[in-house]
Formats: sequence, structure tokens, C-alpha cells
Amino acid sequence: MKMNSQKLLINGIPIVQLIHSLPGNYLLLLPDEQYTMLAASDSYFKAVGKERYNISGMSFIDLFPPSAALENLKASLRMVVENKTPHEMDTQQYDLVDAEAGTRDERYWRPVNIPVLNDDDEVALIIHCAIDVTAEKKLRKSEQESQEHFIARLKIEEGEERLRVAAEAAELGFWDHNLRTGELVWDKRCKELFGLGERDSITFEKYLEHVYPADKELLEKRISWALNPASGGYFDIEFRTANGQERWIRSVAKAFFDEENQPVRFIGSVLDVTNKKQEEIRKNEFIAMASHELKTPLTSAKAYVQMLAATAKKKGDNFFNQSLQKVDKQLNKMTKMINDFLDLSRIESGKFELQLETFELNSLVCEVIEEISPIVRYHRITCEGQQDVFVTADRQKINEVLLNFLNNAMKYSPGQEEVKVFISSEEGFVTVRVVDQGIGIPAEERSKIFQKFYRSEKAFKSGFSGFGIGLYLSAEIIYRHQGRIGVTSEEGKGSTFYFSLPVSS
Ligand code: ADP
Repeated sequence: MKMNSQKLLINGIPIVQLIHSLPGNYLLLLPDEQYTMLAASDSYFKAVGKERYNISGMSFIDLFPPSAALENLKASLRMVVENKTPHEMDTQQYDLVDAEAGTRDERYWRPVNIPVLNDDDEVALIIHCAIDVTAEKKLRKSEQESQEHFIARLKIEEGEERLRVAAEAAELGFWDHNLRTGELVWDKRCKELFGLGERDSITFEKYLEHVYPADKELLEKRISWALNPASGGYFDIEFRTANGQERWIRSVAKAFFDEENQPVRFIGSVLDVTNKKQEEIRKNEFIAMASHELKTPLTSAKAYVQMLAATAKKKGDNFFNQSLQKVDKQLNKMTKMINDFLDLSRIESGKFELQLETFELNSLVCEVIEEISPIVRYHRITCEGQQDVFVTADRQKINEVLLNFLNNAMKYSPGQEEVKVFISSEEGFVTVRVVDQGIGIPAEERSKIFQKFYRSEKAFKSGFSGFGIGLYLSAEIIYRHQGRIGVTSEEGKGSTFYFSLPVSS
């Protein structure tokens, strides 16, 4: 339908002129496909921030960029033409965009479309009126936001209050180290535990000064491991403070990393565990004393057994010789258990020291395999991999870790003869893997087997002997070398235990 807008008259007044002067945002449209514009009120131009220009003959819907709001508008206009009744739309967002200035003004409108019918009862024109409700909408939005903000704040405060009460009841202290700025924040309890006043300032260097000298090295090693992304950021340590009285602190923390894997924040708690620790030390002293007392008769029994075995061999008494060899093997097992208990008590009382030397790891692995070969009956241990890799470590203690891995590999793979050892190095670390084809370890138990006294349910039920301290000791030894330890496993198919040590330059 085409129409000359200038000729539309009401009582002799051109309708266009009438629209111009209406005190609202009015547009006069044709009900064609483009909703061609015929006229617009002065207020409309003002509302959209434009000087009056000749809009006559232009498409109304071309004024809007494609959007859900445009589709709503088209649907409303279609409805008005079809139903021949006015339609009031919900509030729509049509922003005013100034492409030249590169600005966008967030605006909300409530449009009404009204059909004008001719004598034949057809829609001849559409009056479009858009009420600007931006101010109202923004006010409601900010009210809602401030209400949401208020509720969120209440929730945080409630949570903080609950946490504060719980922390106070548990006598927990908190610290927060911003690794980017170096700023370290301690709460009141944290300062109290290290003998500082509430107003005393704290820095990382000052913190280390308040750590018992013998525990400082281990603490620093654990911190640098926690700040290495390979650790997962976890940190859990017990150490003593250096403020006159002996006070044991347990600190549990978590480091956070950015996208480049750089540590950015280190947040944790401290708890006074002196009483528990003193009790543990007393218990450990007892174990250490008992282990020591047991070692003396054992050493003497071992000497007699070896002497008797040699005599039996000389006399050609095979039965006696073999029986005594078996007794000797059992005595060795007992000695190993006692040594483990002694190591455990040393670790717990902070008396575990490393005797560092530089040696070739490959030769140690060969030595350990050779050392245990007399007692290996059902298994075949092979070793493959890199030679000439040197580490600076406590040879005796790394020997213990290897022995523990190999003994476990054999113990937990009855009926399977293959145990393989692989040595490889990359990125400054040398890794030793001990692979067995044994019973494997269920996924949920893999992280627990390195804990003190932990034994898997299967190992326990199937009657495998042990105390659950071998892997705990191995982990402590490896951590003290700033190394890594772990396991991969498939239940029923086997396990791979590994440890890595920094390569000596
Ligand atoms: P122990 O062998 O004396 O129980 P460990 O600390 O050496 O103590 O090992 C802890 C637990 O880890 C064992 O009880 C066992 O459940 C599991 N485990 C260790 N090595 C293996 C292995 N090679 N295969 C399967 N399970 C293992």
C-alpha cells in the first residue's frame, strides 16, 4: 500500500504536521513489510538524540540492528496488522549507538503500536509510541543490585563470623602471602604463636628468623616444593618455633598459580600441636629405646647363626647349613623392621639427618638388585635405562627407598615373576620406576598409601605382612631431597612406583 503522507488530512490539517507537534515519542508507519515511516514527532528526535531529518519513505525496522528486541518489535507490528487491535510491548532495550563517536547509550523503552483503520476496516496506518523508561529501569536495576550486594555481603559476613568463631575455638591462626608483592599478612593468633605482638609487622625473612634453626632447612625445602606446580600446591609440615620455649607448630597451606604456572598466592593456617607432639616424642623415645634394646641381642644372634652356618658348611652338613641360612634371612627381616622403627622415631622427633654425597644412581640401583638377589626366589628383576646420571643424596637412605620399592613389588605380586626397573632423566630430574605385575592398588587408596601406618584393605585381608611404614619413610626421604615420589597402578594388573631426584650438576 503506497500513500502520499503530505496528502493525509484530518479536518484539513495534514496528519504529518499533527504528528510533529505531539508531546511524546510518536512515529507514523505504513503497515507494509518494511513498516515505512511517514512522520515522527519532535519529541521522538529529541529522545533519540538526533536533529530532525527527513525520515519519510525510510524503513522503520532498518533503524535497529539485528537483535531479539528487533524480533519482538516485528512480532508486535505483525500482530497489530493481523488483529487490528493495539499492542503494548514489554520493556525493551534499544540502545542508542553513535558509530562515529563509538559510544553506546543503554536505553529502555516501553513501545505501544496502535492500528488506524480506514472505511474498509483495513489497517491503513500504525501509530508507534515509545515511552522512554530508562531512568525507571536503571533505578530498579541498581536497587536490585544493591539488594543483591547487601544479601551477598550479609552471607559473607555470616560465613566470616562462623569461620572466625570456629578458628578461635580451634585456636587456629591464619596467614596469607602475596607472592607477587611479597606482602605477608598474619592474624593475631599467628603472631601470638611466634611470640610476636599484635602490632608487630611481619615479613617472610622475619618469619624464618622465628623458626627453630634445625627445622629451617626442611621448612624452606617444603615451601619451595609447594610453590612448584608439580606438587599441586599442597603444604603440610610440623616444625618448631624459635622463641625460648619449645613450641611445635603444624602448618597446612595451599599455593595458587596463574595461567603461566607462576605461584601468586600462598595461604595457610597454623596450629599449636606441642602437647600432641610431646606425647608423640615420648612414644617415639620408647620405640627408639625398645628398638635399640632389640637390636643388641639380634646382632649377637646373627653373629652366632653365621658362625654356625659356616661350621655346618665346613662339615658338609647341608640341612643345618640351609636351615641356618633361613634363620639368617628371618633375622635380616627383623633387623629391617627395627631399623624402620628407628628411622620413624628419628623423623618424628626431628632428628633425621641426611649424609649427602655425589654418586651415580645407576650403580646404586645395580648394587641394590645384587644385594637382594640371594633372597629373591620367585621373581626376576631386570634393570634398563640411563647410565652416568649423578645425584647428590644420602646413598644409604636412597638405598632404603629402592629396597622398599623392590621388596613391595615382589611381596605384592605373588605368582608373577617380572619386576622391572627403569631409569630415565628429563628436565633436571632423574626418575627410577619399579614396575610389577601384581595385585595393584585401587584408585581411592593411591594417595593414602604414603601415609604413616596405612595398609590397603586388600593387603591386610590377604594376609601380606607389614606395618605400613615403608612407603611413609620412603616419601619422607624423597621429600627431604626435594624429590618427587608417586605411584600409578591398575587393580589386578600391577603398579609402578617411582621417585625422582634432582640431577647433580
Ligand atoms: P607394608 O608393605 O609394610 O604394608 P608400605 O608402607 O611399604 O607398608 O606399603 C603401604 C601399603 O601400600 C601396603 O600395605 C600395600 O597395601 C600398598 N603397596 C605398597 N606397594 C605395593 C605394590 N607394589 N603393589 C600393591 N600394593 C602395594
